[in-house]
Parts: sequence; C-alpha cells; structure tokens
Amino acid sequence: MTGDDVVRAADLVAESDHLVAFTGAGVSTESGIPDFRSPGGVWDRFDPEDFTIQALTRDPVSYWETRVEMRRERDFDWDEVEPNPAHEAIARLEREGPLSAVITQNVDGLHQEAGNADESVLQLHGTHERAKCLDCGDRFPLETLEAQLEAESLPPECDDCGGLLKYATVSFGERLPQDVLERARREAAACDCFVVVGSSVTVEPAASMPRIAARNGASLVVVNLDETPVDGLADAVVRGKAGETLPSIVERAIA
Ligand SMILES: [Zn+2]
Repeated sequence: MTGDDVVRAADLVAESDHLVAFTGAGVSTESGIPDFRSPGGVWDRFDPEDFTIQALTRDPVSYWETRVEMRRERDFDWDEVEPNPAHEAIARLEREGPLSAVITQNVDGLHQEAGNADESVLQLHGTHERAKCLDCGDRFPLETLEAQLEAESLPPECDDCGGLLKYATVSFGERLPQDVLERARREAAACDCFVVVGSSVTVEPAASMPRIAARNGASLVVVNLDETPVDGLADAVVRGKAGETLPSIVERAIA
C-alpha cells in the first residue's frame, strides 16, 4: 500500500453520491472466519460433491451425517465472530457517507452486526444465520435446524410442512437468489463509485459486477491483498488487508 493509492481512493469515495461496496471472503477472514476455498480449507478435507443441493435431496440422511461431522471438526465458533475494522468502515460509509448497498459473497451477517441496514446488504450467497425449508420456502431461526442436529434427528425437517430444512446459504449446485442478484446488478449499474473489498472477483457473478459499474460510468476502487482481474480497470488499487486499509480510506474521505 502506498499513501498515493489511499489518497486517490479516498478522493473517489469523497466525490461519490451513490456508492456500492462489494465484499468477499477477505473481509470475513479478518474476523477469524476461514476462507473455505483456501488451501487447508474445509474443501481439502471434504468432498464438495457430498454437499450439493442434489446430494441433499438424493440422500438427506447421509448428507446430514457428513455435514454434522464437518460441523464437529470446524475450528471456529460462529457465535464468537465479530465485525472487524473493515466492517466498521463500511457501516460508517452508510451512516455518514454515500453508501447505498453492500453486495456481499459472505454469509456471516457481520455487515448488519457492524451497523449496515438489513435492506442495504445484498447477500448473494444467502445467510448462515437462518434455516430454510426446501419445500415451502419458509425461513426459520437457525436454532430450529441446529436443535435437530444436536438431537441427531436427521434429516432436520420443517415444522410446518415436514420438508427438508437446510442452512439458508447457497449450496453448490443451487441457484443464487435471483431477486438479490437482480438488485445487485441494478445497484452496480446505478452507482457512481464501486468499491471492491477483500474479493478476488474471479467467479461469476462477482466478476461481472465491477465491470457493470465501470461500463456505466462509476469510478472503481479495489482494496484487496492480492491482484484481481479488474485492477487494470480500476481508478485506484489499494493493496493490503481490508481491516488495515479501508478505515484510513474512509476516515480520509468522510472526516
Ligand atoms: Zn416447509
């Protein structure tokens, strides 16, 4: 990170009237949530094929047995994760600045916990904080699902219709929530400043969001530890940890 990049990024944020942030795993890892796709991550030890939506509907009991095993092995506690300075900075951008939406690949709800409004957070991959029924589509508190896991009542079922319950995250092989995706695309097209934070924006639909924004005239800021495929399109690239770099950008832009 050089001072120049931070200044340029802060200027673009300061000039914005309608800002959209796009956040990925890099923002959550700094709160201690592992990046599931990274080496040594959970998908090195478990087979993603066992966790597709198709695997769940084909053989719900064996899906949940494997899932319970994974849950037992995980080395962090969802109840203990807290927003980090990157989340705080993004919440401040909504409270005191031009932010109208946070499009996120994360499922942890930490943006809302940091203070972003529920309706401002577009969770492309769903939420780990709710359960949903595959049959009636109803959503339930997570406890409804986890109480059944703890009682080893597999597969967990919907109280209302007896359908299969699952986490309200988007599973492998499951479609992204189309209404959320549509809103995200609209926000990307409408904003005048699009800020990528902690995402390598390599997979769709993430990859197309900064391009939609840039094509529609928005300035593009990238805050990420590693290079991204859209760095060449960006007006400012700040290389560093989100929790260390974003707060100084926001402080400079808003103060
Ligand atoms: Zn149901």
